[in-house]
Amino acid sequence: LDVIEAAEPSIDAFLQVSADQALEQADAFDQRLAHEGAEGLPELAGVPIAIKDMIVTEGIPTTAASKILEGWVPPYDATVIKKLKAAGMPILGKTNLDEFAQGSSTEHSAFKTTHNPWDTERVPGGSGGGSASAVGAFEAPLALGTDTGGSIRQPGSLTGTVGVKPTYGGVSRFGAIAMASSLDQIGPVSRSVLDAALLQEVIGGYDRRDSTSIPKPVPPLAQAARQGQKRDLKGLKVGLVKELGGEGYQPGVEARFNEAVSLLESMGAEVVQVSCPHFPYALAAYYIIMPSEVSSNLARYDGMRYGLRVMPPEGVPQTAANMMAATREAGFGDEVKRRIILGIYALSAGYYDAWYGSAQKVRTLVIRDFEKAFEQADVLVSPTSPTTAFRFGEKMDDPLAMYLNDVATIPANLAGTPAMSIPAGLSDDGLPVGFQFFAPQMRDEVMYRPAAALE
Ligand code: GLN
Repeated sequence: LDVIEAAEPSIDAFLQVSADQALEQADAFDQRLAHEGAEGLPELAGVPIAIKDMIVTEGIPTTAASKILEGWVPPYDATVIKKLKAAGMPILGKTNLDEFAQGSSTEHSAFKTTHNPWDTERVPGGSGGGSASAVGAFEAPLALGTDTGGSIRQPGSLTGTVGVKPTYGGVSRFGAIAMASSLDQIGPVSRSVLDAALLQEVIGGYDRRDSTSIPKPVPPLAQAARQGQKRDLKGLKVGLVKELGGEGYQPGVEARFNEAVSLLESMGAEVVQVSCPHFPYALAAYYIIMPSEVSSNLARYDGMRYGLRVMPPEGVPQTAANMMAATREAGFGDEVKRRIILGIYALSAGYYDAWYGSAQKVRTLVIRDFEKAFEQADVLVSPTSPTTAFRFGEKMDDPLAMYLNDVATIPANLAGTPAMSIPAGLSDDGLPVGFQFFAPQMRDEVMYRPAAALE
C-alpha cells in the first residue's frame, strides 16, 4: 500500500484502492494461518492482487471506467474474486482501463489517464493498461485483466510484464462485465511466467455459473513453467507465423523477436515456419463480430437497472425512452458509441449476411488455420504488438491506427485458443518488446514451458 501511494501520482494505475478491505482480508488470512496452518493452501496464498475494473467485486465500486456505471456497488463477487478470496489473496483495488475494455491505450477511460512506468509520457497499452502498469511499477505483484482482442497481452507487451489469455472457457467469466461474450476471457498479469501459471491455477476451472465454462480441470501449468526453467526444449517444435511480422512491425520489435527465436533454438527447440493465410483478415472480422456483440451486451445500460440515470431536458416529454436516450448520451464515451453504432449496423436486416455472416465465415477460417498450424508445430510464436508504447494522443484521432495495434493478438480470441505475452528485452527506443506464444485449445501448459525457458 505504501508503494501504491508513492507511485500513483506518476502512474495513475488505480481507479480505486481498497486499502481497508485489503488489510481486513490480510488480517483474516493471518488468523486462518495461525489456526489451520498453511497445508492445502495454494502457493500464492497471502499474496495481494489488483483487479481490472471490468470484474465485479462485492462492496467495491465497479465502473468499467464508464460514467454510466458511476456509483454502482456490485452486490456479488465474480467467480474469480471468490476464488482469490478463498486462496487468501487480498484485493488491493480496481485498475483503470479503456471504457468497457474498448481500446488499446487506456486513453478511452472516462476517469483518468494511466502512464507507462518505462516512460510516463507514453501509454501503457490497453484496454488493461491499469493492471499492466500496476504490476510493471511494482504497485502490485499480480493483477487480473480481461482479454477480448488482446487487452491483457498488448499492455503486457508495452509495459514489460507477463500477460496471459487462457483458453476460452478455461476461466469463468461469471462476474466479468460483458464486452463481446464469444471473445472475452479473464487472465493473469504478472512479472514472471511461473507467477502467471500459479495465478491461472487459482482462478481457472469449471464453473456452472458460466455456460461456456469447460468441464475439465486446469492443466498442470506451474509444473510446465518449472520444467521450462530448466531451459531444455529438446523435442519442442516452434512455429513462426509467417503472416505476423514484416510490414508494419517496428524494426526494433522484429530484432528482439528474432533474437528470442534464436534463444529457443539454442535450448534445443526446432523452429519451422508456418503459414496462417487467413490471419490478415482476422482484424477486419473482429471489428464486425466484436461491435455486434458490444451493441447487444451494452443494451442493458438503460438508466433503469444500474448506475447513472439522466432525465430528459426540460421541454422534452419525460418518458422512459427519452430518459434512456439521455442517460446513454451522457453516460457513454465516443468510442463506445462508435462501436454500438457499428454493431447495430452490422446486425441490421439486409446487412446481416454481408457483414456479420461474412465475418463469422472468416472466423471459421482462422480456427482452421490454427488447427493446420498445430499439426506442424507444438506452439506458435509472433511479436505481441507491432510497436512499442506510443505517445499520448498519437492514435486518438485515428481509430483505425489504434485498432491495428491488435493485429497479432486478435486471432487467438477468434479461435478461443490460449496465448501469452512475455517481455523480450528493449527495442532501440529503450521501450519493452513483447513475445507472444500461442498453444492449442485447453493445452495452456504447452506455452508455459517455452515461455518460462525464455524469460
Ligand atoms: N484493443 C482491442 C479493442 O479495442 C481489444 C480490447 C480487449 O481485449 N478488451 O477492442
